[in-house]
Amino acid sequence: MSMENIRKQFPILKRKIHNKPLIYLDNAATTHKPLCVINAIVDFYSLHNANPDRGFHTLGIEASSLIERSRKAASRFINAKDSLEIVFTAGTTEGLNIIASSFLKDTPSVNEVNRENVVYGSVIQDLRNNFKDNEYITDKDFMFISDLEHHSNILPWMVLCKKKGATIKSIPITQQGCIDICSFEQMLKKYHPKIVAITYVSNVLGSVNDISKISKLAHQYGAKVVCDAAQAAPHIAIDVQNLDCDFLVFSAHKMYGPTGVGILYAKKEVLDKLQPHKYGGGMAENISLQNFDVRAAPFGLESGTLNIAGIVALYEAIQFINNTGIEQIAQHEHELKKYLEKELQAIPEIIIPTPDTQGPIVSFHTRNMHHLDIGTLLDAYGIAIRTGHHCAKPLLDILNVGDGISRVSLAVYNTKEEIGIFIEKLKKIIRK
Ligand code: PLP
Repeated sequence: MSMENIRKQFPILKRKIHNKPLIYLDNAATTHKPLCVINAIVDFYSLHNANPDRGFHTLGIEASSLIERSRKAASRFINAKDSLEIVFTAGTTEGLNIIASSFLKDTPSVNEVNRENVVYGSVIQDLRNNFKDNEYITDKDFMFISDLEHHSNILPWMVLCKKKGATIKSIPITQQGCIDICSFEQMLKKYHPKIVAITYVSNVLGSVNDISKISKLAHQYGAKVVCDAAQAAPHIAIDVQNLDCDFLVFSAHKMYGPTGVGILYAKKEVLDKLQPHKYGGGMAENISLQNFDVRAAPFGLESGTLNIAGIVALYEAIQFINNTGIEQIAQHEHELKKYLEKELQAIPEIIIPTPDTQGPIVSFHTRNMHHLDIGTLLDAYGIAIRTGHHCAKPLLDILNVGDGISRVSLAVYNTKEEIGIFIEKLKKIIRK
């Protein structure tokens, strides 16, 4: 597909900001939406609106089949073995919270509660085939994250570990901004963690981790691997069977899809052990005032009315990526990034902490100007970049860049001309 044809599909790219054409370089925060995604939402509400998996009238059946079509598309998108390994969530953050909270054993089983004190509904039987006792996190356990993580892949684990008195260790990164495999191996030997939760692509540095290798090593020591693929899904062909991670999560809105929709993938054998994080309609069967059974995964984890229109539109986002070609997207973004980085490196005031990473993200700081000033002044030219801590404060502390850094993150619709204008305006701003 030609660049002209790609850009035509994104109505927002015609917008003017402060009377200048929009140059949107904040795609790691969220991408814009092509017409097929926008139309899918309008079409759903105009033609098919109903609650799936509930009523057996025509609209209900249509809604159910549209949801299951998206589940199958998502499953193929990451090469899962079975579409039933796909759970719809509200996004990466929710997916990570569901996984982390499942490792917390705090639900009393019927045998643990004094039957005398039972009021109806207060006893929760063994809800499902949860983890074995030795799979939950305890005060003797360790779990690993890495120095690269987004707050969404730190805080749920911090809460879990604080509740149980377990210890979090962070895997250091190399000069290239990737997980240091040597240190990782040493840490595995020393701590035998139960969980290793790491990002596929860093949202700050654009560095790409070798998830297959990390999974292989972690599994040798009995750890489960959680992969945060929020920044990988729009740029890399994901193959969960090859990565061999136990869990993988991502958000639709970072891959040309709608907000409020995410995917939680888990290998069937671990998915069946996850605890529901919400209880209510759709997730249970055999319900009485005394008890209920949790439905088999993924439905037992999808309580309440989902973001139906959003999930339906996710199908179109996946189609957009497939039709454009993920390899072509990656190639285009890679060329743009090389150009961007070369131009940035030619500006003496600019420092890039880890140049030459694989992903389409470049963060930089300057010797003479605060990141907020850079972001605000660029906005006056219609250019959107992200400034601040990017929800990765521990990484920024390690990089020693103060309270923030400026980030350019690319998508398939960005052009060389846009990068040229960005560089020209950036030079003007920092040399004023
Ligand atoms: N993980 C990474 C690496 C991210 O970049 C982000 C968002 O920027 C998230 C997790 C959280 O994603 P969401 O806000 O869609 O839940």
